[in-house]
Amino acid sequence: MIDTDSVVIGAGPVGLFQVFQLGLLGLEAHVIDVLPQAGGQCVALYPDKPIYDIPGVPMCTGRGLSAQLREQARPFLRSAPDGKKGVNLHLKQLVSSLEHLPDGRYQIETHQGLILRCRAVFVAAGAGAFVPKTLPLPKLEGSQQLHYHLDEVHEGRLPWSGQHLVVVGGGDEALSAILSLSSTEGSDAPSRLTLVHRRAQFQADSALACDVQALIDQGRIDLVVGMPTDVELLDGRLLTLLLLGPDGQTHRLALDHLLVRQGMSPKLGALTQWGLALERKQISVSPATFESSLPGVYAVGDINTYPGKKRLLLCGFHEATLAAHHAAAQLNPEAPQHLLYTTTSPLLHERLGVLNPQK
Ligand SMILES: Cc1cc2nc3c(=O)[nH]c(=O)nc-3n(C[C@H](O)[C@H](O)[C@H](O)COP(=O)(O)OP(=O)(O)OC[C@H]3O[C@@H](n4cnc5c(N)ncnc54)[C@H](O)[C@@H]3O)c2cc1C
Repeated sequence: MIDTDSVVIGAGPVGLFQVFQLGLLGLEAHVIDVLPQAGGQCVALYPDKPIYDIPGVPMCTGRGLSAQLREQARPFLRSAPDGKKGVNLHLKQLVSSLEHLPDGRYQIETHQGLILRCRAVFVAAGAGAFVPKTLPLPKLEGSQQLHYHLDEVHEGRLPWSGQHLVVVGGGDEALSAILSLSSTEGSDAPSRLTLVHRRAQFQADSALACDVQALIDQGRIDLVVGMPTDVELLDGRLLTLLLLGPDGQTHRLALDHLLVRQGMSPKLGALTQWGLALERKQISVSPATFESSLPGVYAVGDINTYPGKKRLLLCGFHEATLAAHHAAAQLNPEAPQHLLYTTTSPLLHERLGVLNPQK
């Protein structure tokens, strides 16, 4: 059980900036995301694509922006245990419930059993929790040889080290995984790498597709064209993937591990059951405070709606700023509420850990 000032649901760009704004105002935040990395859509959907409309940043990529936001929030983020304080960035955790407690606080629980209690909640859930698109093969469910992410380390090792890994998909996600896996060296590398796609052509960035085609031409990876239709298991162990080939025949592909990389899709899931007023699957908020219909629960970024709403990063950053100021005033009404500048405030420098700010 973690007791804290605030919880941010979603470590997308807006959730990360929310943590920064809360930190500036002296509020501790725990941030939770189902993905294995922070960055939301910027990292899950368009990591290498350019963004041109962040104020003062003529161009950055989705991945670059996320890295900068994480760096900016670093004074207030602990992704590795820090003494008694533990971590406050919780990845691979799906928030499943939000409950208003009799003492006015909120209790948040994740599917993985994390429980947090806080006085303010910031829902920065975008279009929902990003979950990997799965293969419709029920026999695969629960298999320890089925993976969706590249960083699934078990007991200090990647599960497919020294074994035959089959990657399914033909888009950016699958091809970038193939490139990354084919450049793995040493004992972490799979002994054999096969890409399975339903067509010989890829629906991916052309440079990425060219790089992967070169690996296929060099014989460094195998390409198998076919649609997965079933699997064969022996004593619960995955042995074979059955594929419907372009010739209309079923082919059998022996494998040790299966990495499904067919993209991510956002799911609102349990969020719709939390008692928040919704409008077309988005959380209705006040455009002055970004508070929802539940007192102390704010919604920022793509998940909210109000008159004039635009789903832009810039708007999400503005919303996070005003929501943090409103929450700070509600949680600490006795504290002075005047606006401090990061340029000149010694208090903010102290919170940011800036030792010798330029005068
Ligand atoms: C292709 C593309 C290009 C874009 N280009 C631009 C651009 O040029 N300029 C611009 O301003 N905007 C652009 N956008 C829009 C911009 O990416 C979004 O406005 C922004 O990502 C919203 O940020 P967010 O933090 O609100 O949500 P998201 O980025 O969607 O992040 C939400 C996070 O919350 C997590 N989450 C949700 N529910 C749960 C839960 N229950 N438990 C745990 N985790 C949860 C999700 O996994 C996700 O990581 C673009 C969008 C796309 C798709």
